[in-house]
Amino acid sequence: INILGIESSCDDTAAAVIQDGVLLSNIISSQKVHESYGGVVPELASRAHQQNIIPVVDEALKKAGIARRDLTAIAFTRGPGLMGSLLVGTSFAKGLSTALNIPMIDVNHLQAHVLAHFIKEDKDDQNQPSFPFLCLLVSGGNSQIIVVKSHKEMEIIGQTIDDAAGEAFDKCAKVMGLGYPGGPIVNKLANLGDPNKFKFNKPHIQGYNYSFSGLKTSFLYFLRDELKNDSDFIDNNKEDLCASLQKTIIDILMDKLRKASKDLNIKEVAVAGGVSANSGLRDAFEDHAQRFGWKIHIPKFGYTTDNAAMVAISGHYKYLDNEFCSMDAAPFARVTV
Ligand code: ATP
Ligand code: FE
Repeated sequence: INILGIESSCDDTAAAVIQDGVLLSNIISSQKVHESYGGVVPELASRAHQQNIIPVVDEALKKAGIARRDLTAIAFTRGPGLMGSLLVGTSFAKGLSTALNIPMIDVNHLQAHVLAHFIKEDKDDQNQPSFPFLCLLVSGGNSQIIVVKSHKEMEIIGQTIDDAAGEAFDKCAKVMGLGYPGGPIVNKLANLGDPNKFKFNKPHIQGYNYSFSGLKTSFLYFLRDELKNDSDFIDNNKEDLCASLQKTIIDILMDKLRKASKDLNIKEVAVAGGVSANSGLRDAFEDHAQRFGWKIHIPKFGYTTDNAAMVAISGHYKYLDNEFCSMDAAPFARVTV
């Protein structure tokens, strides 16, 4: 079974080939045009996807050593994401599937982030989580705690009521005048700073839900007050600010995850999404494994942010279940419940 996976939900154009569950190639073209705008510009993203998608798919096939006619099915990200971006991947998948007369499989981007844990780099790879497990999904657009019961059965038990964790990193980085995306930059500076230098309030939210917009606002006000006394405050305290901010975000994330693990008595815990690249969050997982006997699953860096390997593996499992989609499948920008 040769599955081609296509990802185009945001600003990365990606394609990957998975053969019988084993990854053969994983190509990604990250768009640079957005950097100077401090955020993704949807129209530019869509246009860049159009330019990138054919070369990216060709490269993925070439690297995998798979001819187009040897493909079994095409999996593509149907949503959620930016509509104009999703349309490029969806339309391309439809075109290719028609031309090759092979089935199409629609993939939910968030489920794909979770299923990234099932990507096998070789057939003897045994590191997959076992069901049920908890997954903390922390990305640019989402922060969720998910009970993963099977490859397709996922129950979201908690989620952010406003900003996502990645957004908190990105917006606070913007306030400090750091580049975009801010998450990795904050992480780098945080490694050089004191996480206990500044204290920021944590939100009081019910259940397993999250909220990050208050943190962003109090961070902004804190800086505004300090800048009145010292116009170089940010420059002089960049590392400590980043370390303290990062610690606060991680504490917020881990508090609820720990509560969920305890309440549901599930000690197998995974993390997924772009923010799972964060070294402080990874350390917190290691720490919880030690302290609470968690069996943890942390993805390789390449499988944290958007990639097509996670789409292809999701497609692989749906293929095994005979779950295909029809030609009239339209992309969706948001999750509707
Ligand atoms: P979604 O998957 O919810 O649609 P997305 O695809 O835009 O959103 P991802 O690509 O999974 O999100 O993740 C991007 C986010 O991850 C950005 O907010 C970025 O700042 C953050 N991020 C990446 N690396 C790090 C890091 N080392 N530390 C903190 N945040 C990081
Ligand atoms: Fe994503």
